[in-house]
Amino acid sequence: MRAVRLEAIGAIALHEVDKPVSGPEDVLVKIEACGVCGTDRHLFRGEFPCTPPVTLGHEFSGIVEAVGSAVSGIAVGDRVTGDPNIACGRCAHCHAGRVNLCSNLRAIGIHRDGGFADYVVMPQRQAFLLPAGLKPTHGAFCEPLACCLHGVDLAAIRPGASVAVLGGGVIGLLVVQLAKLAGAATIILSTRQASRRVLAEELGATATIDPGAGDPVEAVRGPAGIMPGGVDVVLECAGVRDTVEQSMRIAKAGGTVVIVGVVPQGMKVAVEPFDLLFRELKVLGSFLNPYTHGRAAQLIASGAVEIDRLISRQVSLEEAPQVIANPPAPGEVKVLVVSG
Ligand code: NAP
Ligand code: ZN
Repeated sequence: MRAVRLEAIGAIALHEVDKPVSGPEDVLVKIEACGVCGTDRHLFRGEFPCTPPVTLGHEFSGIVEAVGSAVSGIAVGDRVTGDPNIACGRCAHCHAGRVNLCSNLRAIGIHRDGGFADYVVMPQRQAFLLPAGLKPTHGAFCEPLACCLHGVDLAAIRPGASVAVLGGGVIGLLVVQLAKLAGAATIILSTRQASRRVLAEELGATATIDPGAGDPVEAVRGPAGIMPGGVDVVLECAGVRDTVEQSMRIAKAGGTVVIVGVVPQGMKVAVEPFDLLFRELKVLGSFLNPYTHGRAAQLIASGAVEIDRLISRQVSLEEAPQVIANPPAPGEVKVLVVSG
């Protein structure tokens, strides 16, 4: 079969490899679609630890082609999405129910072979059923949506709440939709590209901000801002210093800030502890998708989240190495690698 292999840092190519063999507790899945994520580009550039040689791709879905002897509840021909993050189930964090913090966490498409290939093998417990009638491309969004669900869960958005989302990539645009589903009355998205601001307003943002046109903090919480005094909840979805610093200032007193964006390791940001204390802000990190993949699959299956307009391009496995090795094109939200 074909597989996009990261051979070493900076070396990625399509290779012919053996089709994987499923063990007794595994399912073998014929890939229909697999999303390109910023993490794939980080892995290529050596900015995120992994163990090459490995087949990349951790946002995948497809059709079950074979099941191991111990597998039940999933059959050949079923459409499934894979939760790539495999927790050990034995460490102290797993025992405490904090599987995303597992000391031995291993991810499909990072530590073991992933979905930029004709087939992937995964333990049955990582596989979640999707409806037969679902568009094949939609299944690839379960993984990013599951990460967003965890962030929105932590944010505890209540009906009527005011929410600001900083960063309008695929994560920010999914979070906007989840905030709407959670009942937020005001949803403000800040992102630099105009096309994304337009899309965000179509997807549920009640206002958008161009961070290049003035101070976003003032634009939200200033006396003439959209929400004078600040918003109940801020979800930082850009992973850059500016937005992290803005997030704590845009929240209103007693508000909650959830950091979803991955700021490069080692980078420091300016925080005013007096402000955190005096305005009693809650600042939380949101990491991966603990127990949210199944819900993400159900949400995708329900059609409640708009997916088609987040897909900028569909490419073949042959084109995938080039896409991963280069930065995203302007305006691009999500590139999918599709079988064919
Ligand atoms: P992305 O496409 O890079 O989205 C981030 C967007 O933020 C950028 O495209 C950019 O859009 C915008 N941005 C950059 N600087 C900004 C600024 N100063 N003000 C406002 N917006 C700004 O990536 P993504 O796939 O949506 O992911 C977003 C972040 O979440 C990444 O850091 C990713 O690593 C992280 N992530 C975290 C988890 C988790 O488990 N916590 C899971 C998946 C992804 P414009 O050009 O329009 O400004
Ligand atoms: Zn563990």
